[in-house]
Amino acid sequence: MKKHVVVIYPHPDDESFGAAGTISQFRAQGVPVTYLCGTLGEMGRNMGTPTFANRETLPEIRKQEIIDACKVLDMELRLLGYRDKTLEYEDRNEVAQNLKRILEEIDPSLVITHYPDHAVHPDHNALGAAAIEAVRLMDPNKRPTVWAQAITNTYIDDLGQPDVVNDVTDLFDKKMEAILCHKSQASGVIRSWSQNDEYTEDLKKQAKQRLGIEQFYTWKY
Ligand SMILES: [Zn+2]
Repeated sequence: MKKHVVVIYPHPDDESFGAAGTISQFRAQGVPVTYLCGTLGEMGRNMGTPTFANRETLPEIRKQEIIDACKVLDMELRLLGYRDKTLEYEDRNEVAQNLKRILEEIDPSLVITHYPDHAVHPDHNALGAAAIEAVRLMDPNKRPTVWAQAITNTYIDDLGQPDVVNDVTDLFDKKMEAILCHKSQASGVIRSWSQNDEYTEDLKKQAKQRLGIEQFYTWKY
């Protein structure tokens, strides 16, 4: 099997906050990475700080943001075209079949997705579950490894220590550059860490602490 990584998350910015360092590590090794982005995050509440988006313009803005972030991370982008905040109501099997078809075409060695029921947002849980199901439905000889990412506050208590612990502080500037492509979202998140909107040295330290390690559980089939 040729080496190729497929990242499957529902929203523009999940890839940058969750896995940009890991993605950059693979790209540095020459491994192609493809992002299957479930939705445009068009129902998001963040509209930029100060506000520059509205409900009508948000989909196009977030689409451009994810295109820019994928350029920074040097990965291919495929938009799956599902509707934001409704993935949990999609037929799990239909989504899994769709993902399976794409995975069989790309033939990846590794899939990165959210850990179902431990990923906070219903869209994260639903797409993670569909991605894991898609790989289960594949020919066992052709199945990629799956790394599932849990992001609840209690996931280590609930699931034990993750087996993949990636220190990405070396690549942190790249990760932050990708995060900051998501202008409509990043300032809201950064503001939740600090009163200051600016990406200062102090914030950089905080960001490194919060986002400098990317952890995953290898899924057992
Ligand atoms: Zn998300």
